Amino acid sequence: MLDDRHGEAFVAFEHVQKSYDGQTLVVKDLNLSIGKGEFVTMLGPSGSGKTTCLMMLAGFETATHGEIRLDGKPINQVPPHKRGIGMVFQNYALFPHMTVGENLSFPLEVRGMPRDERETRVKRALDMVQMGKFINRRPAQLSGGQQQRIALARALVFDPQLVLMDEPLGALDKQLREHMQFEIKHLHEQLGITVVYVTHDQGEALTMSDRVAVFNDGRIQQLAPPAELYERPQNSFVAGFIGENNALAGTIEQLDGEKALVRLDDGGLIDATAVNIREKGQRTTVSIRPERVEFKPEMMPHGAHTIEAQVIEVIYMGDILRARLRVAGSENFVMKMRNTIGQTHLHAGQSVRIGWHPEDARALDPV
Ligand code: ADP
Repeated sequence: MLDDRHGEAFVAFEHVQKSYDGQTLVVKDLNLSIGKGEFVTMLGPSGSGKTTCLMMLAGFETATHGEIRLDGKPINQVPPHKRGIGMVFQNYALFPHMTVGENLSFPLEVRGMPRDERETRVKRALDMVQMGKFINRRPAQLSGGQQQRIALARALVFDPQLVLMDEPLGALDKQLREHMQFEIKHLHEQLGITVVYVTHDQGEALTMSDRVAVFNDGRIQQLAPPAELYERPQNSFVAGFIGENNALAGTIEQLDGEKALVRLDDGGLIDATAVNIREKGQRTTVSIRPERVEFKPEMMPHGAHTIEAQVIEVIYMGDILRARLRVAGSENFVMKMRNTIGQTHLHAGQSVRIGWHPEDARALDPV
C-alpha cells in the first residue's frame, strides 16, 4: 500500500520474507510503504518480527526474499554504513572512556570529516537534545535519560534522513519514558526526518506515531493512524492488543452489507457491524470497548442495543468506575463509567440492563 498522503514512498518493503534457519519464516510477505517525514511504529508482542524488519532496513540482516527500497533505490546489496541511516537502540553503547563530545565526533572522524565541521555538527546535535552543557562529561557521569539523549544526538549527528529506533526508551522509568516520548516526537516534527520505531508498548506507539503497523506472527495485522486502530480494528488480534476490549463469541445469523445479526453462544441475538465477514453461518467474535457500554441505555438516543447483565464487581478508580459483569455467558465483560456527580452506584449481585450502539459492536474474525 502506498501512502498517498506523502506521495512516493521513502521506505518500501515489497514482499519481504525472512527466515533465519531456512525453514520457518519469521517475517512473512511484508509490504510496507513509509512516506518521507513520516513516523511509523512497528508495534507487536515479543517475537512477532519487528526487530528483524528493522535490522533488514538497517542492513544488519539480509532479506530471504523480496526487495527493500530507500528513496526509490533497492538497498538489499548496500552495506549498513552506506545507507545513511541513524540508529538508536535500547542499549545505547556509548564509549565509556570518551566524553560526550568525543562519542559524537568519533564516527565523523572515522569518515574523515574535517575538525571544524565535526565541531559544528556535534554542537548542533547536542543542542537538539538540550545536552550542549554536557559535552565534556563521560557517560558514567550522566543519568540513564541523559545517556539516551546522547545516543539520540549521536544518531542525528550525520543529518540522516531516516532514523531507526528499537525500544530506545525501554530501560528508562515510566515518567522519563513519557517525557522522552514527547521529546522524540517534537524532534521528529522539527527536523522533518523519517522515523521507523519499534516497541511493544502500545501507549508509546499511539503517542508518537503518524501510523502504527501492528505485528503478530511475522505479519502486519493492520497499518493505520492510532485513532483508527483503536476505533476500527480490522481483526480480533488488533482489537485485543490495542486498548481494552470485550469479546463475545457467536455466529453470523444474518448479513446485509456491514449490518450483521449475531447469535451469541448463550442464545441471545445482537446487532453488530460486520468487518471482513463474508457470509452468514460464519463464526465471529464481537468486540466492544468498555467505555462504549452504557449503564443507562434508556438515556441513549434510539438505536441502542440493550442486554441483561449481572454485576460481579465494581472497582472505584477515581476518575472512572470499572464494573465487571456477566454478559451473554461471559464473566469478564468490562464496563467503564465516568465518575460524575450523581452517578448511581452499582453493587455486586445487582441485575442491570446495559446497552451500546450497534456501530460500537464489531463482528470480527473468531478468536
Ligand atoms: P520482535 O522484535 O517482534 O520481538 P524479532 O524480530 O526479534 O521479534 O524475532 C522474530 C523471531 O525471529 C523470533 O522467533 C526470534 O526468536 C527469531 N530470531 C530473531 N533474531 C534471530 C537470530 N539472529 N537468529 C535466529 N532467530 C532469530
